[in-house]
Amino acid sequence: MERARLILKPKEDFRLRGGHPWVYDNEIASVEGDPAPGAEVEVLDARRRSLGSAFFNPASKIRARIYSRVAKPADQAFFEESIARALAWRRRFFDPERQSLRLVFGEADGLPGLILDSFVGSPEAAGSDAAASPSEPSRGRWLSAQFLSLGVETRKDEILAALTRVFPVRGIAERSDASVRTLEGLPLFSGKLDGEVPERVVIDENGLRFAVDLLGGQKTGWYLDQRANRSAASRFALERAGGPGRRVLDAFCNAGGFALACAAAGAAEVVAVDSSPEAVAAVAANAARNGLSDRVRAIEANAFDQLRLFERGHERFGLVVLDPPAFAKNRASVDSAYRGYKDLNLRALRIIEDGGVLVTCSCSFWFGRERFAQMLEEAARDAGRRLRMIEERGQDLDHPVVSGYGESRYLKCVIAEVS
Ligand code: SAH
Repeated sequence: MERARLILKPKEDFRLRGGHPWVYDNEIASVEGDPAPGAEVEVLDARRRSLGSAFFNPASKIRARIYSRVAKPADQAFFEESIARALAWRRRFFDPERQSLRLVFGEADGLPGLILDSFVGSPEAAGSDAAASPSEPSRGRWLSAQFLSLGVETRKDEILAALTRVFPVRGIAERSDASVRTLEGLPLFSGKLDGEVPERVVIDENGLRFAVDLLGGQKTGWYLDQRANRSAASRFALERAGGPGRRVLDAFCNAGGFALACAAAGAAEVVAVDSSPEAVAAVAANAARNGLSDRVRAIEANAFDQLRLFERGHERFGLVVLDPPAFAKNRASVDSAYRGYKDLNLRALRIIEDGGVLVTCSCSFWFGRERFAQMLEEAARDAGRRLRMIEERGQDLDHPVVSGYGESRYLKCVIAEVS
């Protein structure tokens, strides 16, 4: 079958040659042929040199997403090969048979719009938690999947068939309820896609057990990208090695990833704050699951308000973690996001004791590392505090950062001592 071709305007190939996979509507000079929505097209520069194969979507400003730098079909063999390569990368750092991880991170793994998070564990047993033992036969692996481009939306059969071959799982939950789908002209949807999906899977992370709600939790059910940052933060749960435990605040705690890591590392007390009642209930359940209920208290509140209440009440913490949702969802909201991040960090800095530690994150690609650093400088200045930088971290290795595709580097996590 003859493929349609997208011919770019002069110079619009530059970014693509550097590794960026998106062709915007205004970069296209002409379309040859009549590609159907979701079809595979060949992308050519203005001198008709091929840049590769892409998924076409006439309803999106991102008119085409390159999935291969050589012309090839996006068939089952392509998905098998791509998923196998993604798996090989994870095997460098993780054990995919035993650890939960992001198996496919969209464009960064050459699979535009496809997110596959793998959760290894046991279905939550009603009333008891014995099922989490590694010898338990109910143990297995499940996927939480997001199809965020028309290209992968229309190729679910090929993707499922490829997974059966290279990464078999017990069931797949579809979490195509991310709002970016609307930019692709796709409806929001979540539900069971394949196999059996238990209500919750109890996973292990850094030696702690967490229940992941595949169909009902936020995003894919669990924020895997913060795995390494949770253990990095937990190193500061004590005032010094072997010293007394600190009082910790985990703001925007979701199901308590940071809170429990700090409690297990010896924090004297952990206060976890989230505005979502489901998240607060999950923190309490996860604390109980790990025998940490006596040291973890979860509060349902707006974190901005709660920080102000702590300040007014002269409450102090030795460690504060800030992990808010993305305040900047696009270029236009960067300035208002700046004010939000600054206000938040300012309030946190006011309640950290001398010599205490701030762990502050931003998961917004649009709010870049330099802005983040500048925001922190200003927050520290306004709070009358000094920051001594300990670590500047990013997302964990199962969310690879690739050159030429800046969007792949989105998470910032700065750890600093406060005086
Ligand atoms: N730290 C978590 C992930 C945080 S995701 C982890 O390690 O897994 C961001 C969280 O912020 C979500 O759980 C969301 O419910 C919560 N949230 C959003 N707006 C909030 C607000 N104004 N106050 C408190 N929590 C908020």
